[in-house]
Amino acid sequence: MNSPAIVRTSTAELYDAHVMKNYARAALTLVRGRGAQVWDDAGNGYLDFTSGIAVSALGHCHPHWVAAVQRQAAELIHVSNLFRHPNQGELARRLIGYAGPGRVFFCNSGAEADEGMIKLARLHGAKKAGGEDGKCFKIVGAKNAFHGRMFGGMSATPQEKIQKGFRPLVPGFAFGELNNLESFAALVDDQTAAILVETIQGESGINPCTPEFLRGLRRLCDDRDLLLLVDEVQCGLGRTGKFYAIEHAGVRPDVIAMAKGLGGGFPIGAIWAGTRAAELFQPGSHGTTFGGTPLACAAALAVLDVLEREQLLAHVTRVSVAWHEALGRLSVDFPRHLTAIRARGFLVGLQMSGDPGPYLGALRDRGLLAVGSGNNVIRLLPPLNATAGELAQSVEILRTVLAAKG
Ligand SMILES: *Cc1c(COP(=O)(O)O)cnc(C)c1O
Repeated sequence: MNSPAIVRTSTAELYDAHVMKNYARAALTLVRGRGAQVWDDAGNGYLDFTSGIAVSALGHCHPHWVAAVQRQAAELIHVSNLFRHPNQGELARRLIGYAGPGRVFFCNSGAEADEGMIKLARLHGAKKAGGEDGKCFKIVGAKNAFHGRMFGGMSATPQEKIQKGFRPLVPGFAFGELNNLESFAALVDDQTAAILVETIQGESGINPCTPEFLRGLRRLCDDRDLLLLVDEVQCGLGRTGKFYAIEHAGVRPDVIAMAKGLGGGFPIGAIWAGTRAAELFQPGSHGTTFGGTPLACAAALAVLDVLEREQLLAHVTRVSVAWHEALGRLSVDFPRHLTAIRARGFLVGLQMSGDPGPYLGALRDRGLLAVGSGNNVIRLLPPLNATAGELAQSVEILRTVLAAKG
């Protein structure tokens, strides 16, 4: 009488009934993963070149990562930032090893890393203005940028589809043309505190900053006492074959935001700031309850361990060459569909002649998961340990799908 009725509800029905509708999800329920492979609830396998949007850097369930997270979960999971614990200091040390002298602040996502970076810019401006708020606070960013969905980052994201309905935004953002140094310089005035760019724009179709542009921004920032902020939430952590994408340009920024790949699937974000900028945060300036927990840092340390032991930066650089060439041949063979390729290591954008949606669906049906980017780009984000064979397999699936479209 009192026992509740047993109701078997499908995952799709549960989502439809109970989960907010802010995502256009693919009709696919994933239940298991291993390396670059994932399986759905019907037992179909897929080559996962979404990596959960550049997150699962080691693929799914890498044994070293699983063991590290299991061990830490049984030892100490969370203590807040009221106290120290060994993993946070060690992770900061290792990130500084890649970025240069400075300090690290830990948070939980890319958007949060961007907010922290924007707050550092505001403090830099206030310092320039002799400690007064509201005098020097502007940030010059790039058209087509993406800096997350919170108010600061969203205000730095000049895209109608992201800002619509949420105005008024945070004031003080202006936008230059990517790779046009003059357009940035022209927007700098006495109220400007910082320049903010993604080293490679990931959400608007894989648009890299040129090395000359980054070097020019560095000079501009030095001349006008501005912080150079780079958002490497997507392009950082080895995806381009360097730990930070900006290393390719030989430029040292003042602040780097990172997140996605850092935890290998565990949510963690961070900002690195050079020695001078790092001093802007003092006790009370900024904080977050969850930032840099023992468990999150153990996950990130495991990612760095594997990245180093398995020499994944060199691997990405090495195997990308043949992969990019093979993708290039597709654009020669199917010019009506595939109009351009923008590729940096394992961050690849295939510019299509139209909406990528139907292509993504067809690829999925053939066993390849990819992500859209911008209006007409298919984005391929293999895990950093994807093999040459898996990369070649992705090209074969793309070839089959493009051939079928005629
Ligand atoms: C994904 C992304 C963000 C936002 O990160 P979330 O973890 O989704 O909040 C910010 N900047 C860039 C460049 C990104 O790719």
